[in-house]
Amino acid sequence: EGIVSAYASDAEHDAEVSVRPKRLADFIAQHRVRDQLDLLLRGAMGRGTPPDHILLSGPPGLGKTTLANIVAAELGVGIRVTSGPAIERSGDLAAIVTSLVEGDVLFIDEIHRIAKPAEELLYSAMEDFRVDVVVGKGPGATAIPLDVEPFTLVGATTRSGLLTGPMRDRFGFVAHLDFYSADDLRTLLHRSARILGVPITEEGAVEIAGRSRGTPRIANRLLRRVRDFAEVRADGVVNLETARAALQVYDVDGLGLDRLDRAVLTALVESFRGGPVGLSTLAVAVGEQPDTVEEVCEPFLVRAGLLARTPRGRVATEAAWRHLGISPPNGTFG
Ligand code: ADP
Repeated sequence: EGIVSAYASDAEHDAEVSVRPKRLADFIAQHRVRDQLDLLLRGAMGRGTPPDHILLSGPPGLGKTTLANIVAAELGVGIRVTSGPAIERSGDLAAIVTSLVEGDVLFIDEIHRIAKPAEELLYSAMEDFRVDVVVGKGPGATAIPLDVEPFTLVGATTRSGLLTGPMRDRFGFVAHLDFYSADDLRTLLHRSARILGVPITEEGAVEIAGRSRGTPRIANRLLRRVRDFAEVRADGVVNLETARAALQVYDVDGLGLDRLDRAVLTALVESFRGGPVGLSTLAVAVGEQPDTVEEVCEPFLVRAGLLARTPRGRVATEAAWRHLGISPPNGTFG
């Protein structure tokens, strides 16, 4: 699983951090988002106030955490990092926001998973820069108002549709990150290889880019796996030959689909004759949470034209059958 899901080790994590762009100018592609952010940050710096709160949405590995760090770096302020699931009680959030220094960036990953009472506290922190902390229970409970220094919230979510309306409304700037083109990932791979000191040919970069699921994190990870292969079994150069051989060893197919992607497609085609089938049924068939299938796996399958979401359920496209090398039943397509 390691190759596309969690970090295999601390060293992997360090390697990822070392290639992470530090400034907006080094952030590859996503030109529209970059341009908009540039204006937002410069405008705020010119006025000497923190910029509006920023919401970043998009599938995992596309650069949301990277952008949050870049925002803080460009503003020259500190950053506090937490995540929705880590904030269980409103007290957790109160402790964080009241400890912020003026101008700080507060990054909340998976912000749609924040617990309801904490979410309500966050509203007033975002809007009025104050929070009411309730002390005690029952009739004797008192609300103690506390001031919060002006800060910028950067929220990240895999789908902005998962956010409540009041939450979304409190972000002055909302950006959606989309999958990267193979060409952008090729550029990214050359940059990462340079930083890591890995010799790479143009063909090697093209090969890895085309099999990275449109995702920078995966491109960087595949680069490290191909480097391993090239160093152990060849002359250390990442080229077409070492890329192909290594990706074969790591079970990355021609489209870059990982094991879960393939499991979903295979179940759809073999167990449900191509669908339509409901999300939860499909998730059970592959032994995953519906959220994971929907937020992590499906966006790329849809983008790659392999899966369609219809009102009646998920459907495999003709390309999906072809990719798996299975003939669809007569009359399924056309
Ligand atoms: P997310 O928070 O959306 O899951 P990250 O910000 O952690 O994604 O990005 C994963 C990795 O991909 C980062 O460590 C960084 O090295 C790389 N990366 C993401 N976006 C870009 C980009 N636009 N340019 C260069 N590298 C990127």
